[in-house]
Amino acid sequence: MDCIFCKIAAGEIPSKKVYEDEQILAFYDIEPKAPVHVLVIPKQHIAGAAAVTAENAAVVAHIFAAIPQIAAELGVTDFRVVTNNGVDAGQTVHHLHFHILGGARLGEMA
Ligand code: 5GP
Ligand code: ZN
Repeated sequence: MDCIFCKIAAGEIPSKKVYEDEQILAFYDIEPKAPVHVLVIPKQHIAGAAAVTAENAAVVAHIFAAIPQIAAELGVTDFRVVTNNGVDAGQTVHHLHFHILGGARLGEMA
């Protein structure tokens, strides 16, 4: 599959890794929108939040269990977790990912 995040998960495209285990990977966003901007992805291809099902949701729980640890490693206590689903919501990479944004006072969005 021609998916950039599958390639990053497979190590075919290099990334600056923050956390990795058998199921998930966290790495710095190439175009940071905040002083701290990391993406957390499942290694398995899930197209986005709309493709989460009862069958694959365990990896999403696993991501959220890892997020406090990742944030602590990044040195942020205050952070925002965002996922964009669909082009109109700003999704540009169609492999589920959660943005962790922090390191500054973030503007109000939601
Ligand atoms: P989206 O817009 O889909 O919510 O987020 C995709 C994010 O992936 C963007 O913030 C973009 O900067 C980041 N990104 C796209 N391609 C690459 C890449 O090759 N490496 C890294 N580290 N980040 C990427
Ligand atoms: Zn993928």
